[in-house]
Amino acid sequence: MTSIETLSIHGGRTPDPTTGAIVPPICQSTTYAQRGLDGDAVHTYSRASNPTVSVLEDALGALEEAPPAVCFGTGMAAITTLLLSESNAGDHGILSDVLYGGSVRLVREVLARFGVDATFVDTSDPAAVEQAVRPTTRWIFIETPANPTLKLTDVEAIARIASRAGVPLFVDNTFLTPVILRPLDLGGTVSVYSTTKYIDGHNATVGGALVSRDEALLERLQRVRKTVGSIQSPQNAWLTLQGLKTLPLRLKTQCENAAVIARWLEAHPEVARVAYPGLESFPQYALAAKQHTGRPRGAEAALHGALIAFTLRGGLAAVRAALRDCEWITLAENLGSVESLATHPVTMTHGDVPREQRERAGIDDGLVRLSVGLENPADLIADLDRALERAAAVREGGRRESLAIS
Ligand SMILES: *Cc1c(COP(=O)(O)O)cnc(C)c1O
Repeated sequence: MTSIETLSIHGGRTPDPTTGAIVPPICQSTTYAQRGLDGDAVHTYSRASNPTVSVLEDALGALEEAPPAVCFGTGMAAITTLLLSESNAGDHGILSDVLYGGSVRLVREVLARFGVDATFVDTSDPAAVEQAVRPTTRWIFIETPANPTLKLTDVEAIARIASRAGVPLFVDNTFLTPVILRPLDLGGTVSVYSTTKYIDGHNATVGGALVSRDEALLERLQRVRKTVGSIQSPQNAWLTLQGLKTLPLRLKTQCENAAVIARWLEAHPEVARVAYPGLESFPQYALAAKQHTGRPRGAEAALHGALIAFTLRGGLAAVRAALRDCEWITLAENLGSVESLATHPVTMTHGDVPREQRERAGIDDGLVRLSVGLENPADLIADLDRALERAAAVREGGRRESLAIS
């Protein structure tokens, strides 16, 4: 099989047939002239398909040895289109209990009003998934590693349950991308992506993609996309194609940086816990080693993503002090870009997740999600060192105050 580095650059792409351009033109056209009434036009209207978007779809499909992907305006547009396409009123879905906040909102606030029932279960426990299956279950949707706690789900184990139940398995693979995890090879039906994250990688676009080897499903997705109007824009598809070329290279280095930083954090006295699937202390270290099989050129060991979740001893006040005024690390909601970004899930990305569901999932006030970028890790560690000094000062101050009161 052709390597991921080569496919990221060439997969699904040929020089533009009219100009020979190596980089596909941005086809900024609403509609397309048709030769006759016999309906042989490839493109008709840019809500249905667009030539630049099609290049991105060919490229993302090629990465997973699949037919062309279906691309969307955002990751949430992809997930919404998928669940709208594959659910009817009265149906039931099973989802990971730790999930991207937007996916939780979609299911709880939108699909629920249309009679689609859902159970959120700890999908790291296959027995819990098996027990949640009902006669009305129509799909299983998992995210691994989960956002933001990084808990893993065994894709093969859940695929076996889905297959016994006769339902498709949707895997949100935004965090690892096909460079590290290959959901379709493990029995998944659809790989779900927010291309906003690692695939673009430059904080330049929002976008989404669904990749599958099930042609009938892909056709249904295209039809619902055309109907609800959730397609990607050509500008964003073009930028995403540019980002895609360096995906394996970026992700490899970002993962290596993350491994160094996770070890450093684990040894720091202000840090209560570090979750990073590449640490020996990670509860599912063995599953990470089994499941994360991608090994881009030059990577000495398996890669486990570039996100770290760590908890500060000083809770919310310490997080507030730590994340203010960092030099290189930006407080922001995105992840996966070359810029390192820190997020406080409780007040930012997961603010809409009910507190009780949040706490059950281990998303506490002191939790920080760090998306490690491409900067030199020594500079990032120096930045984190100063941040944790600020956190320590706040915790010390708090302790002195409470001693004075008692
Ligand atoms: C960001 C994200 C999404 C949603 O993608 P958007 O492009 O922001 O709409 C879905 N799943 C995961 C895991 C994400 O990180």
